[in-house]
Amino acid sequence: MSGSSGLKRDTGKNTRVGLFGGTFNPIHWGHLRSAEEIRERFDLSRVIFIPVHVAPHKKADVISSEHRCAMVKKAIRGNSFFQVSDIELQRPGKSYSIDTIRHFHGLSRGQEELFFIMGMDAFREVPVWKDYPAFFSACNFIVMTRPGAHDVQPAELIPRDIEKEFTRQEREQCFVHTSGYRIYTAPVTPLDISSTVIRAGTAAGKSIRYLVPRNVERYIAGHQLYRITATPGRQPQRPPAG
Ligand code: ATP
Repeated sequence: MSGSSGLKRDTGKNTRVGLFGGTFNPIHWGHLRSAEEIRERFDLSRVIFIPVHVAPHKKADVISSEHRCAMVKKAIRGNSFFQVSDIELQRPGKSYSIDTIRHFHGLSRGQEELFFIMGMDAFREVPVWKDYPAFFSACNFIVMTRPGAHDVQPAELIPRDIEKEFTRQEREQCFVHTSGYRIYTAPVTPLDISSTVIRAGTAAGKSIRYLVPRNVERYIAGHQLYRITATPGRQPQRPPAG
């Protein structure tokens, strides 16, 4: 991390890279602002947005990965710290985050320290990911929380069956895994925007201006996306586990 926090560790790695996975259906200002704040706070040299592959039968209201990826590209235009990766979209069949982390480890040849960025809501779902304990031996995590939220307790954050593998590190305000990787919690400015609300608004013919970047708004209108709501009675589902 930068500034006076003194939390930047000497890990022997040259750069710190954030991996921000999500459905991005569509990307909105909440995603962008929180990525910017995390980049600054953790002194990341770049944040890579990674739209996840969602099998069409899994979630009725997730539009094609090409559209989601195209909107991320538009949204991050002009920010030289932001990149997009279509790695999860290229892999045929199910995509697993653990494979994505391994992919980026391979690309960096051990020169980059990786931080997997996610909201607290998404982090709580990690225990249903495939081989989830392996994640904590594979990279650092940054879990975004709301400012002013009370100190996150281990019991709230660390899955019960592996809590013995972590110790609290007050100086760095993180939990350290036996592998040496850390789970950080970091408050971000709460922008109460969700992709769900944007899709619902579009379907209802309402304006989504100031919820998404202008070029994303135009893309949605130009391609007539989200005009119809998901099948009635069908509950929105989360992307495939892990
Ligand atoms: P949906 O409403 O379709 O569930 P979502 O925005 O909650 O969409 P994703 O696109 O998968 O879901 O979100 C990617 C990541 O961004 C997740 O880790 C999520 O916690 C985080 N996130 C989502 N909305 C916000 C927001 N307004 N501010 C900060 N982080 C967010």
